[in-house]
Parts: sequence; structure tokens; C-alpha cells
Amino acid sequence: MQIDILTIFPHFFDQFLRHGMVRVARQKGRLDVRITDLRAYAEDRHRTVDDRPYGGGPGMLLKPEPVFRALDALGLTAGAAAPEGTLPLLMCPRGQQLGQQDLEEFSGARRWIILCGRYEGYDERIVEAYPWRRVSLGDYVLSGGEVPAMAIIEGAIRLLPGILGDGESALRDSFNEWTGPEGLDHAHWTRPPQYRGRGVPEVLLSGDHGAIEKWRRENSKQQRSNRWQAMRGTNPESVSSGEPGESPARITDGEAFKEVPGENDVEQDQ
Ligand code: SAH
Repeated sequence: MQIDILTIFPHFFDQFLRHGMVRVARQKGRLDVRITDLRAYAEDRHRTVDDRPYGGGPGMLLKPEPVFRALDALGLTAGAAAPEGTLPLLMCPRGQQLGQQDLEEFSGARRWIILCGRYEGYDERIVEAYPWRRVSLGDYVLSGGEVPAMAIIEGAIRLLPGILGDGESALRDSFNEWTGPEGLDHAHWTRPPQYRGRGVPEVLLSGDHGAIEKWRRENSKQQRSNRWQAMRGTNPESVSSGEPGESPARITDGEAFKEVPGENDVEQDQ
């Protein structure tokens, strides 16, 4: 699968591409991510990609020219259908909220082109001119499309055949085959059997596979009903999967911070 990402913050993705399943998929040659810096397609020497909205009001918008030019270079033509196998994805809070079924569908495409917005969003001609699937991560507003793009990539990559090991099949995850599309995963425990006064459900230590599967089914149903109750505000503390655990190797902001090229590339309106 090839993924082209258009962004004004190309270095946002540096670490993301080097970790976890995304790294595995890249190493196995199953995923090829190419980042396009929208500023490279700006037309002036200040590499301007934003401008003020007509009609006034706060904030700035992504200008059409750098985006149209970058998309020309990627073979996506304004006013035309996308090339066969190409899925153009627009990160947009006005889009359809992403679900597991969308990830399954998206993971079947040969190539994605993801446009990450910034500022107050896009000049509407960018939205109109291309056959986008407009994708929202949820009903809240982030500052840019980079985090939604990473969420979609992570969610879809683990569905590609041969990326997760057999023991970690996605089919047993929430919203999948084992649980059904609206079902939730059961709670899990690992060693040690006792930790800080907290144990593990007896049945999971019994070795009785039939009883374990039955317990897991019941627990999965319980998770779902807990979630519904929490969403209705009746029982907000009831969704629990056991010991929250500690983070032994906490990284403080100071330790994690290393200078990265482009990090001073702030949005000009802020
Ligand atoms: N003015 C817009 C928000 C712009 S936020 C509005 O009120 O709808 C800037 C960019 O961040 C967006 O263009 C989009 O690319 C991204 N973004 C913000 N929230 C998002 C969400 N919930 N889902 C997907 N993308 C989002």
C-alpha cells in the first residue's frame, strides 16, 4: 500500500513512521509512506500556504494553489475521478465519523492520498474539486489533520494480512469478527497472578478453555453494557479492565525534546 500525505508539517510523521506496526509494515515492504510538504508547492519566496478568509473573521485558510499543485504532481486531477485504486482522504471535522468498517474498506485500497488541513481549514475549492472521502475522527476540533491521518493509518495497517502476528489477530479485537461490529473486547490480565493486592479472575488460571471462552464472552457483553451506562451518565466508573498499572519509564517533556528540522515552522496566524 502506498500512502501520500500532504501536510505543512512534514516532520510530524518522523517518529510515527519508525514505531510499532507502521514500522513493521514498512520493513516488510507492505507500506510505502511519502510525505509531501505543501510549502514546496507554494508560489512565493516566503512559501506561503495560507491566507485570510473572504468575508473576514478569525484565522487563516489553506490556499488553493499549493494544494492543487501538489495534487497535480501526485496525479490527482481536479474535477476528475481518482485513478483506479486511489483513495483521496480529506481530514475534516465536517466529514463522516471514522468507524472500524471504514478502516476495513480503506485498507483494501492500493493507494491513499491524505490531505491534512491546518488553520481554520481549507479554501472550499479544495474540498469541492476532488472526489474526497471526508473523514472526521470525531465531533471535536483538533488543530490539524496530522493526528487524524496517523489514527487512520494505524487503524488500517493492522488490518493488512500478515502484519499482526497470528497470536494478535485483529479478528478478536473490539468491533471485529469475534465481538461483532458493535461489540467490545473482554478484559485481559497477564502475570503476575497477584500484584499489589489485586488478583486475576480464577477461571483464567484454570486451563479450562471452554470455561475461559464462556467467561470472555460474558465479560465482553458486560464491557458493552458498562459502556452504554457510562455514555448515558448513569455509571461513569464502571468500565474497568483491571489494574491501571504504572509507567516505569516515563519520559518527561525535557528528555523527549530534541530539535527537529521544521519544528519552528509554526502556523503563521499563531
Ligand atoms: N474550522 C474547522 C476546523 C479546522 S481545524 C471547523 O470548525 O470545522 C484545522 C484542520 O484540522 C481541519 O481542516 C482538519 O484537517 C483537521 N481536523 C480538526 N479536527 C478534526 C477532526 N475531528 N477530524 C478530522 N480532521 C480534523
